[in-house]
Amino acid sequence: MPDLPPPFLGEPYLLTPGPLTTSRTVKEAMLRDWGSWDGDFRAMTSELRARLLAMLGEGVEAFDCVPMQGSGTFAVEAMLASFVPRDGKVLVLANGAYGKRAAETLAYLGRAHTVLDKGDYLPPRGSEVTAALAADPAITHVVAIHCETSSGILNHLKEIAEATAAAGRRLLIDSMSAFGAVRLEAGDFPFDAVVSSANKCIEGVPGFGFVLARKDVLEGAKGNSHSISLDLNAQWSAMEKTGQWRFTPPTHVVAAFLQALREHEMEGGVVARGARYAQNRDVLVAGMRSLGFETLLDDAWLSPIIVTFFCPADPAFDFDAFYASMKAKGFIIYPGKLTLVDSFRIGCIGRMDAAVMRRVVEAARDALAEMGLADATPPAVALEERKRLSAPEAAA
Ligand SMILES: *Cc1c(COP(=O)(O)O)cnc(C)c1O
Repeated sequence: MPDLPPPFLGEPYLLTPGPLTTSRTVKEAMLRDWGSWDGDFRAMTSELRARLLAMLGEGVEAFDCVPMQGSGTFAVEAMLASFVPRDGKVLVLANGAYGKRAAETLAYLGRAHTVLDKGDYLPPRGSEVTAALAADPAITHVVAIHCETSSGILNHLKEIAEATAAAGRRLLIDSMSAFGAVRLEAGDFPFDAVVSSANKCIEGVPGFGFVLARKDVLEGAKGNSHSISLDLNAQWSAMEKTGQWRFTPPTHVVAAFLQALREHEMEGGVVARGARYAQNRDVLVAGMRSLGFETLLDDAWLSPIIVTFFCPADPAFDFDAFYASMKAKGFIIYPGKLTLVDSFRIGCIGRMDAAVMRRVVEAARDALAEMGLADATPPAVALEERKRLSAPEAAA
């Protein structure tokens, strides 16, 4: 693994699911200006598309890559608006904030949809997809979230994809927080499109997202989108014809992303990136458990992306004070998103390794001591909540 120098002296690590800590060389790649129309920048766009496509592995010939300006949500909206025909109907598999956002996006777009809502973190299973599709022949598409970043759960894409294909429907994937660190290849199982963005596991800076989609699906998307700026068919056609983005591209972000893609390759690609993140998670989880903290998810469902911890039961614990103390020690953590119990999240992605994660655990130990907490054990209700994950429904 390459050296992971601290980002900049005094700069805190972002233990958040994007924007995240980037390498110094990624930041330095932004220290010049490019003309969007110029051949140099067109070559950069072309290299970016080729490198992203190559990550889909065998079977990639059927796919193409379309970058889209904006944050990840813009790219998800572009995918839904472009690939779901106006008379289509979508089954959204939701177990957290990003599944809910996909459903909200479809409501804005005026696309018929139905939601299989599993609550804060229970995984949607293949058998449930099979049943939902059998019950509603009007459904044309299924939307799945790869890693649901709001809890950190890694959903079972393979069984979802197989259930979807067996019912003759099409699958669209939000792999925003997993792509580049968790394997997802064109030949693994059938899907139409997958979306991710610059500032997650590839470790670039924020400013655009990208959709990797089957070429026949891109071709068939003509006229579906309600939006000129988010029309993937139009963005793709223009890029194929001219090598340019249709509207002002985030030139510096693209330059930084190309550098990030080269560093991703030098590290050893998806396998090595995923292994580093998994090690980050293992060091973090073991260390936090030694302080008494407990994770929302059983080990089998923990992703290498982000981990949700319950807040301690001790009334002396105050999240805002904990946050401020962690920040003063050089670590920015992330509030939780659970509805039933208090929690916080710590990201494992970005330019960090196991040595950094050991310092995170030491910082947490010192922050607890400052608050006068001897032990970080969560309340009983949190542990009961966690038990539901081992229920037969979840494990089915
Ligand atoms: C980060 C993320 C998004 C996009 O969020 P933006 O804030 O728009 O970049 C979408 N889905 C998932 C699962 C994510 O983790």
